[in-house]
Amino acid sequence: MHFPDSVKNIIKQLEAAGFEAYAVGGCVRDSLLSFTPPDYDIATSAAPDEIKEVFSDCKIVDIGAKHGTIAVITDDENCRKIEITTFRADGEYSDSRRPDSVTFVRDLKSDLARRDFTVNAMAYSEKTGLIDLFGGAEDLKNKLLKCVGEPEKRFSEDALRIMRALRFMSEHGFTCEAETEKALRKLKENLLKIAPERIMAELDKLLLGEFAEKIIIEYVDVLGVFIPEIKDCAGFDQRNNYHIYDVLTHIAKVVSAVPKERILRVAALFHDVAKPQCFILKDNLGHTRGHAAKSAEIAEETMRKLRYDNAAIKQVKLLIQNHDDKFKTDDVSVKKLLNRFGIETLEQLCILQKADDSAKADFVKEERKEQYLFIEKASEIIEKGECFSLEQLAVNGNDLLKSGFEGKEIGIQLQKLLEAVITGEAENKKEILLKRIG
Ligand code: ATP
Ligand code: MG
Repeated sequence: MHFPDSVKNIIKQLEAAGFEAYAVGGCVRDSLLSFTPPDYDIATSAAPDEIKEVFSDCKIVDIGAKHGTIAVITDDENCRKIEITTFRADGEYSDSRRPDSVTFVRDLKSDLARRDFTVNAMAYSEKTGLIDLFGGAEDLKNKLLKCVGEPEKRFSEDALRIMRALRFMSEHGFTCEAETEKALRKLKENLLKIAPERIMAELDKLLLGEFAEKIIIEYVDVLGVFIPEIKDCAGFDQRNNYHIYDVLTHIAKVVSAVPKERILRVAALFHDVAKPQCFILKDNLGHTRGHAAKSAEIAEETMRKLRYDNAAIKQVKLLIQNHDDKFKTDDVSVKKLLNRFGIETLEQLCILQKADDSAKADFVKEERKEQYLFIEKASEIIEKGECFSLEQLAVNGNDLLKSGFEGKEIGIQLQKLLEAVITGEAENKKEILLKRIG
């Protein structure tokens, strides 16, 4: 197993001071999988004060003395911040969220025993090699996600582990061991007791996972605890030849078809979630008019509950509201689109629409090919420096003020001029535009 020198050195320094120290958790799991871990955690028998003492010559940050975590800042470009945590044992859990007490202990075993899944409960140091008390390496080889200890007890202690299970399955393609699976489904409602922002963080990681499609479909009952509307999408037949999948399968496929970017993946998750409630049958054909607006509403409401930031909510809403629009591809229409959305949003809309169509009947992709030309047109317009926004207009508010306009009228006139420039009625030149209003 390969660990960076900075990690090995920290372990050695703690050992030299008479303590035990190991790389633990996610970084051991990832290293065994031959991935480069996003960060490295070290667990030690040293108490927080003792850790500080050992690293008194280094730059350290106390990131939670209560939990016994101290970060050492290194000059290793690949892992600037290494978190060192004192071995802990969690006390009783009475609220499905957090332990009533945390005690620092001197033995590694208790620290590993409190960890959620066997694959996350291994330790490593150069001195000892891999320490695997719960069969994590074997489970990792078999891609099996299994609780450390008794699953019902572990999920009752901390219901967030239910979402963490889904997230690890989505990230790594693990399957869930039978007892672990039974327990997480049984206790899923306890997720409602968990701080929403913690659910959001796990949901984001789930959505960005390689296996998101599979997990969304298989664990819709769990997601349904905090997105009730998504449960109705499971098995919902759209009764329309544009669609070959039920709504949930379609949603899951679109999530996996967009790039691994948070906004796009969240937008994909919610983009059709209101279809079941908008569904009507006309001449034996399914229609879901208004589903884009309604899905955007559900996205907003759910994202607010989960404490997503306002910018994310606004962008996801915008993408969903317009995901089903057919954009024209002539010059004037594309300039108006650029003016309305800006190039970044337009690109995201194009990606979402393509992904959406990729999860429909084959003929749809063929039929819509032309429709996506709007994005190439938009790039051409930008490249040529053609005007589509007020900022690019050759006159501004001051010019109009000088020409005798006041207050609201300035904005109205500027809009009119922009419209004339976009439609090609007027050239974007100051004297021409001033003459037009003069
Ligand atoms: P990532 O690669 O996303 O960082 P990770 O496994 O390192 O994954 P973290 O959330 O960073 O996940 O947690 C670090 C370790 O702490 C886990 O590997 C696990 O051993 C333990 N852990 C974290 N959260 C919990 C929890 N809610 N219950 C039990 N153990 C947990
Ligand atoms: Mg981690």
